[in-house]
Amino acid sequence: MAAKSSLNRSLPGIIVSSRGASRLQRGHSWVYRSDITGAEQIRPGSLVSVSDGHGRFLGTAMYSSSSQIAVRLLAPGPIKNFPDLVAARVRQAIEYRKLVVNHSDAYRVVFSEADFLPGLIVDRYNDLLSIQILTQAMDSDPARAAIISVLSDELSPASITERADARVRALEQLASRDSALVAGTKSSTVFTMNGVRFHHSALAGQKTGAFLDQRENYAAAEQYAHGDALDVFCYQGGFALHLARRCNRVTAVDSSRPALETAEKNATLNGREVEWIEANAFDLLKDYAAAGRQYDSIVLDPPAFAKSQKNLPSAFAGYKELNLRALKMLRPGGILVTCSCSQQVSQMDFLEVILSAAIDLRIRPRIIELRGQARDHPILLGVPETRYLKAVICRLSD
Ligand code: SAH
Repeated sequence: MAAKSSLNRSLPGIIVSSRGASRLQRGHSWVYRSDITGAEQIRPGSLVSVSDGHGRFLGTAMYSSSSQIAVRLLAPGPIKNFPDLVAARVRQAIEYRKLVVNHSDAYRVVFSEADFLPGLIVDRYNDLLSIQILTQAMDSDPARAAIISVLSDELSPASITERADARVRALEQLASRDSALVAGTKSSTVFTMNGVRFHHSALAGQKTGAFLDQRENYAAAEQYAHGDALDVFCYQGGFALHLARRCNRVTAVDSSRPALETAEKNATLNGREVEWIEANAFDLLKDYAAAGRQYDSIVLDPPAFAKSQKNLPSAFAGYKELNLRALKMLRPGGILVTCSCSQQVSQMDFLEVILSAAIDLRIRPRIIELRGQARDHPILLGVPETRYLKAVICRLSD
């Protein structure tokens, strides 16, 4: 104990309330600002030594001067050298992916808290890497240098791009920065998931380019899909192109024209035909359902409707409307793959919404699989925020 505290003596101290302390003791990494009862003057992004009101040392954490999540725990003990710790954890994250990623050269290499690297996201697209830095401590020059250096050494990418989310950076009071290449010059590539190929442009598209968290769900959906398929909220065609390997016809819908342009190129790349439709999915489903259209397989993968507890009721209404219309359009024996990526919506809540749609339609779908995010987006026990994606695959009776 003496050695531990002497190592941390140079760090500013933070005292947390009993609620904050029990949160950490229960395996969470965060302490909210409202649970801080005492703090010295602390520079943004500093490492801090966290204790409870009885002077008991709880661990070493990253401090944010602006986020409501003021403290993010890094280690239960002292930390000798932050950039070295970051580098070691990035190496461990890379090793972990060797265990859980198959049939893909695109996957999440580092998933923030779930890889004990709060505020760092690294995605791999074949030979290109994309990073996002979302916390003050990770944004410090020594941490950034360590991240880029270890990724270059371990994965030898052709380039590394930083995707800067202006809104998040402003909230975290990080210096404004444009998305840009931070190593190498190559800015586009082709990546492969489950044998399906996709174009990737390092500086274009939503998120860091693709929804890698759905990779395993693409393969699962493909396994059950058949007949006429409809992929709603298709983005660049992740589900649609998998379904096209099994289905007679695939129609796919999104409101983003740039996403559909890439989707069309992806179809060509794979020698597949998909009908891409630019439309508001709510309007289109309403029209199609009213017109009596029918499908054998439907995928619903909307954006997160519930960003906070406040808009849960409208999120539930949105999910219900989509699922009701989709279930209505399914033929007997039809397959629905329905997703929610709102962390605020639990799996039970989501199943309730699907049930409520089924009750309105007087049908009794069976659940084939309850799925979540791909395993390269690990769920850290004790940190429920790391578990966010739900994908339910159900089947109507014949
Ligand atoms: N299924 C996709 C990811 C979908 S993300 C994949 O696996 O890659 C959500 C998508 O919904 C985005 O592409 C976004 O452009 C689209 N979107 C958002 N609001 C929409 C709306 N009202 N109608 C149609 N598409 C919408």
